[in-house]
Amino acid sequence: MKFRPITLFLTFLSSLCPLPPLLAQNPPQRAIAITIDDLPAANANGMTGTEIVEMTSKLLATLRDQKVPAVGFVNERKLYKQGEVDDRIKALNLWLDNGFELGNHTFNHFSLNKVTLSAWEDDVIRGEVVTRILLARHNMKMRYLRHPYLDTGRDLQTRREAEAFLVDRGYCIAPVTMDAWDWMYAPVYEDARKHGDTALQQQLVSSYLTYTGVVFDYYEKFSKDLIGYEPKQILLLHGNWLEADHIGELVDMLRKRGYKFVTLEDALNDAAYSMPDDFIGEEGTNWLDHWAITRGHPPLNTPVFPQWVNDRYMALPKPPPEPPVF
Ligand SMILES: [Zn+2]
Repeated sequence: MKFRPITLFLTFLSSLCPLPPLLAQNPPQRAIAITIDDLPAANANGMTGTEIVEMTSKLLATLRDQKVPAVGFVNERKLYKQGEVDDRIKALNLWLDNGFELGNHTFNHFSLNKVTLSAWEDDVIRGEVVTRILLARHNMKMRYLRHPYLDTGRDLQTRREAEAFLVDRGYCIAPVTMDAWDWMYAPVYEDARKHGDTALQQQLVSSYLTYTGVVFDYYEKFSKDLIGYEPKQILLLHGNWLEADHIGELVDMLRKRGYKFVTLEDALNDAAYSMPDDFIGEEGTNWLDHWAITRGHPPLNTPVFPQWVNDRYMALPKPPPEPPVF
């Protein structure tokens, strides 16, 4: 086998992240790590600080009672709303006070596919400031980075340079293997919640759990077909009222599928996460897709998102996009 520079680089990467076992073992049961993005709240701009604290408390109470570990990923820009900074930081502290971990999701939530590498790197650094202090007060260090939109770079050079930058700053990249697009359900759910439309809320929850099941059916089989076993999966969720109100039902559903809940650190010990990954491209593609595309076998017949939810989402009045803060 030719020893290419890329192989060397991957070896270097894995030497800084937790080292995987040499051979993948068939796990005795399914395992999954929960990650929750866009903190302190996906809709931070449309919520008061008090509401964000209330939502966070409810979300974390369920996870804590169910003994489900989670890492939350922060966009620090969302902390800066006049008169509400304290409450927004309080919401982040709730994560750490309750034994959960926080990581960096960049300050502005810039896509690495859409801004220059240096602008993106600046956004990573700027996204660390408050979270690092909070972590230090809990004797923890910042160690995970989640790419906004899961965009890992528009070309391989950008991707590798960004990865080298992240490794240099002490980060492990937090991949995703399971994603049922709760970010699209959540604004519709939150709108129904605001208007007291409990019937629509229930319809949405039911659809969300069903669609999650469809995604898991697909990617569990896809995992086995691609790499011969189901790796410790990593689920992407977002900080929203849909999860705060219903994450218990999601946890129950996953337990019934045979999942135990593990830390992100534990999941990343799975050998799958050090497989070759040359994926470049557009948003939303998970790491199982990355590995498959790298091998020249892109996923086919992927689950179709429910059209009616998409239509409801598109029909919502959208707030004007906030200008980026440089
Ligand atoms: Zn995000």
